[in-house]
Order: sequence, then C-alpha cells, then structure tokens
Amino acid sequence: MHVDFIIVGLGLAGVAFAEELRKNGKTFIVYEDNSQNSSLVAGGMYNPVVLKRFTPVWNAKEQLEIALPFYKKLEDRFDKKYQYSIEICRIFKSIEEQNNWFTKSDNSLLEEYMIPKIIKNTNQHVKAPFDCGKLKNTGRIDVNLLANDYRENLRKSKKMREVGFKYADIIFEEESIEYQDVKSKHIVFCEGFGLKENPFFNYLPMREAKGELLTIYSPDLKVDYLIKSAVFIMPIGNDLYKVGATFNWKDKTKLPTPDGKNELESKLNSVIDCDYKIVDHVAGIRPTVLDRRPLLGIHKKHKQLAILNGLGTRGVMIAPLMAKKLFQNIEKGAQLDKEIDIARFE
Ligand SMILES: Cc1cc2nc3c(=O)[nH]c(=O)nc-3n(C[C@H](O)[C@H](O)[C@H](O)COP(=O)(O)OP(=O)(O)OC[C@H]3O[C@@H](n4cnc5c(N)ncnc54)[C@H](O)[C@@H]3O)c2cc1C
Repeated sequence: MHVDFIIVGLGLAGVAFAEELRKNGKTFIVYEDNSQNSSLVAGGMYNPVVLKRFTPVWNAKEQLEIALPFYKKLEDRFDKKYQYSIEICRIFKSIEEQNNWFTKSDNSLLEEYMIPKIIKNTNQHVKAPFDCGKLKNTGRIDVNLLANDYRENLRKSKKMREVGFKYADIIFEEESIEYQDVKSKHIVFCEGFGLKENPFFNYLPMREAKGELLTIYSPDLKVDYLIKSAVFIMPIGNDLYKVGATFNWKDKTKLPTPDGKNELESKLNSVIDCDYKIVDHVAGIRPTVLDRRPLLGIHKKHKQLAILNGLGTRGVMIAPLMAKKLFQNIEKGAQLDKEIDIARFE
C-alpha cells in the first residue's frame, strides 16, 4: 500500500492531523493501540483565561478561531453534537480576589471573556461566601464521543489499523519509508505520553501529569454553568457532572486510584453540600512539556519523521491550530514559531 502519511496515535492530535490531511487531499493510514487515553477521558473544557491568576492563556484567541470551526465541521460531517457553550463561574476565595477580577477584566485580551461584575451565588447547595466571577464564550467539547466517531469513520474507510506501531520496523529510503506492507512519504507521531517509547523523539522533555476525574449524579445540584473552585464541576446533562481533575507527576499509570478519588471527593465536598453518587471514575496522562509548549517539528536526521505532541492540559484548544502549522511546515516548508518547534531542545 502507498500513502502520503502514516499517523501513529489517534487522540486529539491524531484526529486534528488526519483532518488536515483529508482537507488537503492527502492519503493516510492510522495506527492506534489504545495504550494511552488522555483524549478519551478529558473533561473537554475550553477556556481562554487562566483561572488561578486571571491572565490570558497563551495564544488563546488564535487557537479558538481555528478550533471552534474545526469542531463545527466535524459536527456537520458526522451529524452529531460535540460542542456545548457553557459559562464558567469562578468562585472567589476572598475580597482581594474580587478586586483582582475587576482589575484584570479591564485587560483588552480578557474583556471578551470576563464579565466585569460580581455575580451573586443564589444556589443554596453551592458554597460561595465571596460569590463568583463569570466567564463567557467558554465551553466544552465531548472529546470522547468525537474521538470514537472518528475512529469508527476511519475503520469504515479502512484507514485504521488497531495495533501498536513498531518503531524498529521502519526502513528508511531516500525520500520515503517502508513500514511492513506500507510505503509512505512521512510518519507523524501523535502518541501523547506514548512518546516515551519512541526512540526517535523520546529525548524531548515531556513532564507528563496524570489526571483523575469523577462523574457524579446529583439531581439536587441544578447547575447549568461550570463551577471552578477547589475542583471544577461541569454539567453534562441529565443531572450528571464531571468533577476534576487531579494532578500527579509521579504515577505513570492510567489507572484510577483510591487516593485520586478521595482527593476529588474531599474537594468536591468543600464546594457543594447536596447528595451525589459517583457513577464513573477515570484517569489518563496529560502530555505536558517542561516549558508548557507543544512539541512540533521534523526529525533532525530522518526528514520523513515528524511529531505533533505536547498538547498538555489544553488539547481541545491547541490541537487544530498545531495540526495546521505542522502540515504547512512539512508540505510547504513554512517556518514553525520558535516556542513550539522541537528545535528549541537541540
Ligand atoms: C483527567 C484529564 C482531564 C483533562 N481535561 C482537559 C480539558 O478539560 N480540556 C482540555 O483541553 N484538555 C484536557 N485534558 C488534556 C487533553 O486530554 C490532552 O491535551 C490531549 O487529549 C492530548 O491528546 P494527544 O492526542 O496528544 O494524546 P492522547 O489522547 O494520549 O493520544 C495518543 C494516542 O496515541 C496512541 N499511541 C501511543 N503510542 C502508540 C503506538 N506505539 N502505536 C499506536 N498507537 C499509539 C495512544 O493509544 C493514544 O490513543 C485532560 C487530560 C486528563 C488526563
């Protein structure tokens, strides 16, 4: 089989790159072995404001301008709903934070998102003695549904091989590679934390962060906005809420743990005081990088190999723009910004 591209890994990075190829009429085949699941368990939130300090997220506006139409196109193509607009309610911890909110919402990069007033908490089950600030133009993507639909679509068109990619089987030719029965011009690695097993790119400084997340059922809570306090509580319909997420830099497994559950429950109990039932508990490893920027670029020695990784904690917003930039880099030689180019680690 002859293709233009092999993609290794079909999380958000792989989906975004596959879409870029489809749009540009390139042929490809995907390898996916379910060894990682960050995209499948992600909360899916997009939010251009850092909620700790009320500062703009790096490049957020440019990312969202590409990301929202990207998800809309997939909704149209698969006739499904993936994007939900949800306001975010950031619960204040003090008067000082309230004042800070007013000062920061004056910033031209933030005024589109931060509503410059204190919103009174009227929900008796939400503990917010200092009330909250609201963000608009924020929301969530149902990444799990989207990723599974995308896989199904590729299965049907026979573009998906559900086996692990074996790095040692690559045979390099002058301008292409051979991999088992496939001849391809390029391989793009989108393996998330699986990067650690990749002998061509595992020198890159990934500082992965495991995250755990609960889904709770709480018919009394009645909240239709996302609450951000000690944890986030995100409504997903039918009185279900996602509650997350933990950060653990030591545990490298994608298994949910009793410690993760206890941490989330105890934080959740500090924010709400009504009954709930835990109906799901998941975990995954975020592909975060030492300098908190994505990892894009072409291998220094093997020009047929490229990487799209390091989406960190914000894959939903970042992935579509990064896929576009990497495609332009590979196909048109367009220069990558220094801060995302893997050349910064050479
Ligand atoms: C608990 C949690 C909550 C999160 N919440 C949010 C959120 O609200 N908003 C947000 O934007 N981001 C969130 N994230 C981060 C987000 O999940 C990531 O930024 C993004 O999903 C990473 O996508 P990826 O495609 O790079 O990696 P992954 O989703 O991990 O995909 C990599 C894929 O490559 C495959 N693979 C790896 N090696 C091989 C191999 N050798 N052969 C074949 N296949 C291979 C894996 O099986 C996997 O499917 C969250 C993450 C976690 C863990």
